[in-house]
Amino acid sequence: MEPQGPHRKPRSRAAEAIHRRIRGVVKALLNGTDGDSLAGLPDHIELRLRIPIHLQENDHRDSVQFADSLLAQVETLRIQGETESLGHRTGHAPCYWCQAPVCQHSQPPDSRSILVGWSATGIPIWRELASLFIENGDPQIDLLYGEHPGPAVCWLGEGELLGEILPEYLNDSLFARPVGALLAGGFPIPGQASESLCITALILESRVGRVVPRYSLNLLCAVPAPHHIDTITADHSRSIMSGWIGALRSSLHHFQEQLLVDASKGKRASLKSSRQRIVDLLIESRSQLETLRRRNDRRTKHAQQRSEDPNRPTSAALSDLLDGDESDLFEDRRESTIVLRGPQGRIHIFTSSGRHITSAVYSTDSIQSRIARSRWVPMTKTRAHALIDRVRQSTEPGSPGLSQGHAS
Ligand SMILES: [Zn+2]
Repeated sequence: MEPQGPHRKPRSRAAEAIHRRIRGVVKALLNGTDGDSLAGLPDHIELRLRIPIHLQENDHRDSVQFADSLLAQVETLRIQGETESLGHRTGHAPCYWCQAPVCQHSQPPDSRSILVGWSATGIPIWRELASLFIENGDPQIDLLYGEHPGPAVCWLGEGELLGEILPEYLNDSLFARPVGALLAGGFPIPGQASESLCITALILESRVGRVVPRYSLNLLCAVPAPHHIDTITADHSRSIMSGWIGALRSSLHHFQEQLLVDASKGKRASLKSSRQRIVDLLIESRSQLETLRRRNDRRTKHAQQRSEDPNRPTSAALSDLLDGDESDLFEDRRESTIVLRGPQGRIHIFTSSGRHITSAVYSTDSIQSRIARSRWVPMTKTRAHALIDRVRQSTEPGSPGLSQGHAS
Protein backbone atom coordinates (compact mmCIF):
# COMPACT_ATOMS: atom_id res chain seq x y z
CA MET A 1 0.00 0.00 0.00
CA GLU A 2 1.29 3.43 -0.88
CA PRO A 3 0.97 6.07 1.84
CA GLN A 4 -2.18 8.22 1.52
CA GLY A 5 -2.85 11.77 2.62
CA PRO A 6 -1.31 15.22 2.12
CA HIS A 7 2.35 14.01 2.55
CA ARG A 8 2.21 11.48 -0.25
CA LYS A 9 4.98 12.18 -2.80
CA PRO A 10 3.60 12.70 -6.30
CA ARG A 11 4.85 10.16 -8.75
CA SER A 12 4.98 10.50 -12.52
CA ARG A 13 5.20 7.31 -14.47
CA ALA A 14 5.69 9.40 -17.60
CA ALA A 15 8.81 11.03 -16.08
CA GLU A 16 10.15 7.64 -15.01
CA ALA A 17 9.58 6.30 -18.50
CA ILE A 18 11.54 9.26 -19.91
CA HIS A 19 14.40 8.45 -17.54
CA ARG A 20 14.37 4.81 -18.62
CA ARG A 21 14.42 5.84 -22.26
CA ILE A 22 17.43 8.14 -21.73
CA ARG A 23 19.18 5.39 -19.78
CA GLY A 24 18.55 3.09 -22.75
CA VAL A 25 20.10 5.63 -25.13
CA VAL A 26 23.23 6.03 -22.96
CA LYS A 27 23.57 2.26 -22.68
CA ALA A 28 23.23 1.86 -26.44
CA LEU A 29 25.82 4.57 -27.06
CA LEU A 30 28.30 2.84 -24.77
CA ASN A 31 27.53 -0.58 -26.18
CA GLY A 32 30.46 -0.72 -28.57
CA THR A 33 32.77 -0.12 -25.62
CA ASP A 34 34.40 -3.19 -24.14
CA GLY A 35 34.21 -4.06 -20.46
CA ASP A 36 37.65 -2.75 -19.68
CA SER A 37 36.92 0.71 -21.03
CA LEU A 38 33.73 0.82 -18.98
CA ALA A 39 35.87 0.17 -15.92
CA GLY A 40 37.41 3.60 -16.43
CA LEU A 41 34.05 5.38 -16.37
CA PRO A 42 32.38 7.11 -13.43
CA ASP A 43 29.25 5.53 -11.91
CA HIS A 44 26.83 8.08 -13.31
CA ILE A 45 26.60 11.31 -15.24
CA GLU A 46 24.50 14.39 -14.56
CA LEU A 47 22.48 15.65 -17.49
CA ARG A 48 21.02 19.11 -17.97
CA LEU A 49 17.62 19.37 -19.56
CA ARG A 50 16.16 22.60 -20.88
CA ILE A 51 12.38 22.63 -21.26
CA PRO A 52 10.66 25.84 -22.38
CA ILE A 53 7.78 26.82 -20.11
CA HIS A 54 5.65 28.79 -22.52
CA LEU A 55 4.67 26.24 -25.07
CA GLN A 56 2.69 28.35 -27.51
CA GLU A 57 5.12 27.36 -30.20
CA ASN A 58 6.11 23.82 -30.94
CA ASP A 59 9.86 24.41 -31.05
CA HIS A 60 11.91 21.30 -31.71
CA ARG A 61 15.27 23.02 -31.24
CA ASP A 62 15.60 22.31 -27.51
CA SER A 63 15.11 18.62 -28.15
CA VAL A 64 17.76 18.60 -30.86
CA GLN A 65 20.12 20.51 -28.60
CA PHE A 66 19.52 18.10 -25.72
CA ALA A 67 20.16 15.11 -27.98
CA ASP A 68 23.39 16.65 -29.32
CA SER A 69 24.62 17.43 -25.84
CA LEU A 70 23.74 13.94 -24.58
CA LEU A 71 25.63 12.30 -27.43
CA ALA A 72 28.64 14.56 -26.91
CA GLN A 73 28.75 13.91 -23.17
CA VAL A 74 28.54 10.15 -23.57
CA GLU A 75 31.22 10.20 -26.26
CA THR A 76 33.54 12.26 -24.04
CA LEU A 77 32.96 9.80 -21.22
CA ARG A 78 33.58 6.81 -23.44
CA ILE A 79 36.86 8.31 -24.62
CA GLN A 80 37.90 9.16 -21.07
CA GLY A 81 37.12 5.66 -19.90
CA GLU A 82 39.14 4.19 -22.73
CA THR A 83 42.17 6.35 -22.02
CA GLU A 84 41.93 5.67 -18.29
CA SER A 85 41.79 1.93 -18.60
CA LEU A 86 43.71 1.14 -21.79
CA GLY A 87 46.33 3.88 -21.68
CA HIS A 88 45.72 4.97 -25.25
CA ARG A 89 43.09 6.48 -27.47
CA THR A 90 41.64 4.46 -30.31
CA GLY A 91 43.03 5.61 -33.65
CA HIS A 92 45.88 7.62 -32.10
CA ALA A 93 49.50 6.80 -31.31
CA PRO A 94 50.42 8.13 -27.87
CA CYS A 95 52.81 11.10 -28.05
CA TYR A 96 55.47 11.10 -25.33
CA TRP A 97 56.63 14.60 -26.25
CA CYS A 98 53.23 16.23 -25.74
CA GLN A 99 52.38 13.72 -22.99
CA ALA A 100 49.01 13.41 -24.67
CA PRO A 101 47.00 10.50 -26.06
CA VAL A 102 45.74 12.88 -28.75
CA CYS A 103 47.78 15.71 -30.24
CA GLN A 104 48.88 17.07 -33.59
CA HIS A 105 51.36 14.15 -33.91
CA SER A 106 49.09 11.28 -32.94
CA GLN A 107 47.48 10.41 -36.29
CA PRO A 108 48.84 9.51 -39.73
CA PRO A 109 48.96 12.54 -42.07
CA ASP A 110 47.41 10.64 -45.00
CA SER A 111 46.11 7.25 -46.13
CA ARG A 112 49.55 6.10 -47.37
CA SER A 113 51.33 6.55 -44.04
CA ILE A 114 52.13 4.04 -41.34
CA LEU A 115 53.76 4.34 -37.93
CA VAL A 116 57.43 3.33 -37.91
CA GLY A 117 58.20 4.22 -34.30
CA TRP A 118 58.91 7.18 -32.07
CA SER A 119 61.58 9.87 -32.31
CA ALA A 120 64.25 10.37 -29.62
CA THR A 121 61.93 12.86 -27.92
CA GLY A 122 58.91 10.60 -28.17
CA ILE A 123 57.03 11.98 -31.17
CA PRO A 124 55.30 9.34 -33.35
CA ILE A 125 57.05 9.01 -36.74
CA TRP A 126 54.77 8.48 -39.74
CA ARG A 127 56.14 7.39 -43.11
CA GLU A 128 54.80 6.19 -46.39
CA LEU A 129 54.81 2.40 -46.46
CA ALA A 130 56.18 2.49 -50.00
CA SER A 131 59.26 4.46 -48.98
CA LEU A 132 59.89 1.99 -46.14
CA PHE A 133 59.75 -0.90 -48.62
CA ILE A 134 62.13 0.91 -50.99
CA GLU A 135 64.58 1.62 -48.18
CA ASN A 136 64.54 -2.00 -47.02
CA GLY A 137 64.71 -3.41 -50.56
CA ASP A 138 61.43 -5.20 -49.87
CA PRO A 139 60.01 -6.72 -53.09
CA GLN A 140 56.51 -6.09 -51.79
CA ILE A 141 56.84 -2.64 -53.31
CA ASP A 142 55.46 -4.34 -56.45
CA LEU A 143 52.29 -5.12 -54.56
CA LEU A 144 51.74 -1.44 -53.86
CA TYR A 145 52.50 -0.23 -57.36
CA GLY A 146 52.30 -3.31 -59.56
CA GLU A 147 49.75 -4.21 -62.17
CA HIS A 148 47.60 -6.05 -59.64
CA PRO A 149 47.91 -4.20 -56.34
CA GLY A 150 47.30 -6.28 -53.27
CA PRO A 151 47.93 -6.12 -49.57
CA ALA A 152 51.58 -5.88 -48.55
CA VAL A 153 52.63 -6.27 -44.95
CA CYS A 154 55.59 -6.18 -42.60
CA TRP A 155 55.92 -6.11 -38.84
CA LEU A 156 57.93 -4.19 -36.28
CA GLY A 157 58.83 -5.36 -32.80
CA GLU A 158 59.11 -3.33 -29.64
CA GLY A 159 62.84 -2.79 -30.24
CA GLU A 160 62.27 -1.14 -33.58
CA LEU A 161 59.28 0.90 -32.44
CA LEU A 162 60.92 2.26 -29.29
CA GLY A 163 64.59 1.95 -30.27
CA GLU A 164 65.17 5.67 -30.77
CA ILE A 165 63.23 7.11 -27.89
CA LEU A 166 65.22 8.41 -24.94
CA PRO A 167 64.42 6.69 -21.65
CA GLU A 168 63.43 9.92 -19.89
CA TYR A 169 60.53 10.33 -22.31
CA LEU A 170 59.38 6.74 -22.06
CA ASN A 171 60.01 5.50 -18.57
CA ASP A 172 57.57 7.40 -16.40
CA SER A 173 54.89 7.53 -19.06
CA LEU A 174 51.41 6.42 -18.06
CA PHE A 175 50.61 5.31 -21.61
CA ALA A 176 50.24 1.70 -22.57
CA ARG A 177 53.49 0.29 -23.94
CA PRO A 178 53.72 -0.44 -27.68
CA VAL A 179 54.92 -4.05 -28.04
CA GLY A 180 54.62 -4.61 -31.78
CA ALA A 181 52.90 -3.50 -34.94
CA LEU A 182 51.88 -4.77 -38.33
CA LEU A 183 52.25 -2.25 -41.12
CA ALA A 184 50.07 -3.04 -44.08
CA GLY A 185 49.02 -1.32 -47.27
CA GLY A 186 47.57 -1.78 -50.72
CA PHE A 187 43.98 -2.18 -49.52
CA PRO A 188 41.40 -0.90 -51.98
CA ILE A 189 39.24 2.04 -50.93
CA PRO A 190 35.64 1.52 -52.01
CA GLY A 191 34.76 3.95 -54.76
CA GLN A 192 38.30 5.31 -55.15
CA ALA A 193 40.07 3.11 -57.66
CA SER A 194 43.25 5.21 -57.87
CA GLU A 195 43.95 5.30 -54.13
CA SER A 196 44.79 2.54 -51.71
CA LEU A 197 44.85 2.44 -47.96
CA CYS A 198 47.64 1.78 -45.45
CA ILE A 199 47.00 0.78 -41.87
CA THR A 200 49.07 0.28 -38.72
CA ALA A 201 47.83 -2.41 -36.36
CA LEU A 202 49.56 -1.44 -33.13
CA ILE A 203 49.49 -3.75 -30.12
CA LEU A 204 49.77 -2.04 -26.77
CA GLU A 205 50.35 -3.50 -23.34
CA SER A 206 48.70 -1.93 -20.34
CA ARG A 207 49.67 -3.03 -16.84
CA VAL A 208 48.30 -0.20 -14.71
CA GLY A 209 46.43 -1.73 -11.77
CA ARG A 210 46.50 -5.20 -13.28
CA VAL A 211 47.99 -8.53 -12.30
CA VAL A 212 47.76 -9.80 -15.87
CA PRO A 213 48.76 -7.26 -18.53
CA ARG A 214 46.07 -6.29 -20.95
CA TYR A 215 46.94 -6.32 -24.67
CA SER A 216 44.86 -4.21 -26.98
CA LEU A 217 44.77 -3.59 -30.69
CA ASN A 218 44.83 -0.02 -31.88
CA LEU A 219 44.23 0.61 -35.57
CA LEU A 220 45.92 3.73 -36.92
CA CYS A 221 44.69 4.78 -40.30
CA ALA A 222 43.67 7.95 -42.11
CA VAL A 223 40.56 6.80 -43.94
CA PRO A 224 39.40 9.24 -46.61
CA ALA A 225 35.83 10.51 -46.14
CA PRO A 226 33.10 9.37 -46.40
CA HIS A 227 34.55 6.06 -45.20
CA HIS A 228 35.29 5.29 -41.59
CA ILE A 229 37.68 2.79 -40.04
CA ASP A 230 34.86 0.98 -38.23
CA THR A 231 32.87 0.47 -41.39
CA ILE A 232 35.72 -0.67 -43.61
CA THR A 233 36.93 -3.18 -41.01
CA ALA A 234 33.41 -4.41 -40.18
CA ASP A 235 32.70 -8.07 -40.90
CA HIS A 236 29.88 -7.37 -43.29
CA SER A 237 32.16 -5.51 -45.71
CA ARG A 238 33.69 -8.93 -46.61
CA SER A 239 36.92 -7.31 -47.74
CA ILE A 240 40.40 -8.75 -47.28
CA MET A 241 41.05 -6.03 -44.73
CA SER A 242 38.01 -6.84 -42.62
CA GLY A 243 38.78 -10.57 -42.70
CA TRP A 244 42.35 -9.98 -41.69
CA ILE A 245 41.63 -7.46 -38.92
CA GLY A 246 38.83 -9.66 -37.61
CA ALA A 247 41.16 -12.64 -37.35
CA LEU A 248 43.87 -10.55 -35.67
CA ARG A 249 41.36 -9.22 -33.17
CA SER A 250 40.12 -12.67 -32.34
CA SER A 251 43.57 -14.22 -31.94
CA LEU A 252 44.57 -11.37 -29.63
CA HIS A 253 41.36 -11.93 -27.69
CA HIS A 254 42.08 -15.66 -27.35
CA PHE A 255 45.61 -14.93 -26.21
CA GLN A 256 44.31 -12.53 -23.57
CA GLU A 257 41.76 -15.09 -22.35
CA GLN A 258 44.52 -17.69 -22.12
CA LEU A 259 46.67 -15.34 -20.03
CA LEU A 260 43.77 -14.82 -17.64
CA VAL A 261 42.96 -18.55 -17.42
CA ASP A 262 46.62 -19.40 -16.81
CA ALA A 263 46.89 -16.70 -14.14
CA SER A 264 43.78 -18.01 -12.38
CA LYS A 265 45.50 -21.41 -12.20
CA GLY A 266 48.58 -19.80 -10.71
CA LYS A 267 50.61 -20.10 -13.95
CA ARG A 268 51.41 -16.46 -14.55
CA ALA A 269 53.40 -15.95 -17.73
CA SER A 270 56.47 -13.71 -17.54
CA LEU A 271 56.26 -10.39 -19.37
CA LYS A 272 59.05 -11.56 -21.62
CA SER A 273 57.18 -14.67 -22.70
CA SER A 274 53.91 -12.76 -23.14
CA ARG A 275 55.66 -10.28 -25.41
CA GLN A 276 57.25 -13.13 -27.36
CA ARG A 277 53.79 -14.60 -27.88
CA ILE A 278 52.66 -11.21 -29.22
CA VAL A 279 55.51 -11.35 -31.72
CA ASP A 280 54.39 -14.86 -32.76
CA LEU A 281 50.88 -13.57 -33.11
CA LEU A 282 52.03 -10.71 -35.37
CA ILE A 283 54.00 -13.10 -37.55
CA GLU A 284 51.03 -15.44 -37.83
CA SER A 285 48.79 -12.54 -38.68
CA ARG A 286 51.19 -11.39 -41.36
CA SER A 287 51.21 -14.80 -43.03
CA GLN A 288 47.45 -14.89 -42.76
CA LEU A 289 47.18 -11.68 -44.76
CA GLU A 290 49.52 -13.18 -47.32
CA THR A 291 47.26 -16.25 -47.50
CA LEU A 292 44.20 -14.04 -47.99
CA ARG A 293 46.02 -12.18 -50.72
CA ARG A 294 46.96 -15.38 -52.53
CA ARG A 295 43.42 -16.65 -52.26
CA ASN A 296 42.25 -13.41 -53.78
CA ASP A 297 44.89 -13.61 -56.51
CA ARG A 298 43.68 -17.04 -57.45
CA ARG A 299 40.44 -15.53 -58.53
CA THR A 300 42.31 -13.72 -61.24
CA LYS A 301 43.50 -15.61 -64.29
CA HIS A 302 47.10 -14.50 -63.89
CA ALA A 303 47.59 -16.55 -60.76
CA GLN A 304 45.77 -19.64 -61.97
CA GLN A 305 48.83 -21.73 -62.78
CA ARG A 306 50.63 -21.04 -59.55
CA SER A 307 47.76 -22.28 -57.44
CA GLU A 308 47.71 -25.59 -59.28
CA ASP A 309 51.31 -26.44 -58.44
CA PRO A 310 51.24 -30.13 -57.43
CA ASN A 311 54.54 -29.94 -55.54
CA ARG A 312 53.26 -27.74 -52.77
CA PRO A 313 55.90 -27.95 -50.04
CA THR A 314 53.48 -27.18 -47.20
CA SER A 315 52.40 -30.75 -46.65
CA ALA A 316 55.99 -31.85 -46.12
CA ALA A 317 56.61 -29.55 -43.12
CA LEU A 318 55.95 -32.12 -40.43
CA SER A 319 57.74 -35.06 -42.01
CA ASP A 320 60.75 -32.88 -42.88
CA LEU A 321 60.95 -31.72 -39.29
CA LEU A 322 60.66 -35.18 -37.77
CA ASP A 323 63.00 -36.77 -40.36
CA GLY A 324 65.62 -34.02 -40.20
CA ASP A 325 68.10 -33.32 -37.45
CA GLU A 326 68.98 -30.23 -35.45
CA SER A 327 71.60 -29.04 -37.95
CA ASP A 328 68.74 -28.26 -40.36
CA LEU A 329 67.18 -25.81 -37.94
CA PHE A 330 68.00 -22.09 -37.98
CA GLU A 331 66.77 -18.97 -36.29
CA ASP A 332 65.90 -16.12 -38.61
CA ARG A 333 67.26 -13.10 -36.80
CA ARG A 334 65.39 -10.54 -38.83
CA GLU A 335 62.02 -12.22 -38.57
CA SER A 336 62.29 -13.91 -35.15
CA THR A 337 61.11 -17.13 -36.72
CA ILE A 338 62.51 -20.65 -36.95
CA VAL A 339 63.60 -21.96 -40.32
CA LEU A 340 63.77 -25.65 -41.21
CA ARG A 341 65.83 -26.69 -44.23
CA GLY A 342 64.27 -29.74 -45.84
CA PRO A 343 65.38 -31.73 -48.91
CA GLN A 344 65.25 -30.23 -52.44
CA GLY A 345 65.34 -26.62 -51.23
CA ARG A 346 62.14 -26.94 -49.22
CA ILE A 347 62.12 -24.32 -46.49
CA HIS A 348 59.58 -24.37 -43.69
CA ILE A 349 59.01 -21.42 -41.39
CA PHE A 350 57.77 -21.83 -37.83
CA THR A 351 57.08 -19.41 -35.00
CA SER A 352 59.27 -19.80 -31.93
CA SER A 353 56.44 -21.71 -30.28
CA GLY A 354 56.55 -24.31 -33.06
CA ARG A 355 53.53 -23.27 -35.05
CA HIS A 356 53.98 -23.82 -38.76
CA ILE A 357 53.53 -20.59 -40.73
CA THR A 358 54.49 -21.28 -44.28
CA SER A 359 56.67 -23.32 -46.63
CA ALA A 360 58.42 -22.48 -49.85
CA VAL A 361 61.11 -23.72 -52.19
CA TYR A 362 64.29 -21.65 -52.16
CA SER A 363 67.25 -21.79 -54.50
CA THR A 364 70.51 -23.14 -53.06
CA ASP A 365 72.04 -19.69 -53.58
CA SER A 366 69.45 -17.83 -51.58
CA ILE A 367 69.67 -20.38 -48.77
CA GLN A 368 73.47 -20.13 -48.70
CA SER A 369 73.42 -16.34 -48.77
CA ARG A 370 71.02 -16.12 -45.84
CA ILE A 371 73.29 -18.39 -43.82
CA ALA A 372 76.44 -16.56 -44.94
CA ARG A 373 74.98 -13.17 -43.96
CA SER A 374 74.05 -14.63 -40.55
CA ARG A 375 70.44 -13.82 -41.15
CA TRP A 376 69.82 -17.49 -40.50
CA VAL A 377 71.91 -18.73 -37.59
CA PRO A 378 72.05 -22.40 -36.60
CA MET A 379 69.85 -23.19 -33.63
CA THR A 380 71.57 -24.54 -30.53
CA LYS A 381 71.09 -28.26 -29.93
CA THR A 382 69.02 -27.73 -26.81
CA ARG A 383 66.63 -25.27 -28.42
CA ALA A 384 66.32 -27.42 -31.51
CA HIS A 385 65.42 -30.50 -29.47
CA ALA A 386 62.91 -28.51 -27.45
CA LEU A 387 61.25 -27.31 -30.65
CA ILE A 388 61.10 -30.80 -32.17
CA ASP A 389 59.56 -32.09 -28.94
CA ARG A 390 56.96 -29.32 -28.91
CA VAL A 391 55.96 -30.03 -32.47
CA ARG A 392 55.88 -33.77 -31.81
CA GLN A 393 53.60 -33.24 -28.81
CA SER A 394 51.33 -30.93 -30.75
CA THR A 395 50.80 -33.60 -33.41
CA GLU A 396 49.89 -36.38 -31.00
CA PRO A 397 46.26 -37.54 -31.14
CA GLY A 398 43.90 -35.19 -29.35
CA SER A 399 45.95 -32.06 -29.86
CA PRO A 400 45.17 -29.34 -32.40
CA GLY A 401 48.18 -30.35 -34.52
CA LEU A 402 50.20 -28.34 -36.97
CA SER A 403 48.60 -25.25 -38.26
CA GLN A 404 48.54 -24.63 -41.98
CA GLY A 405 47.72 -20.98 -41.50
CA HIS A 406 44.54 -19.91 -39.80
CA ALA A 407 42.85 -18.04 -42.57
CA SER A 408 39.19 -18.75 -42.66
ZN1 LIG B 1 52.50 15.37 -29.79
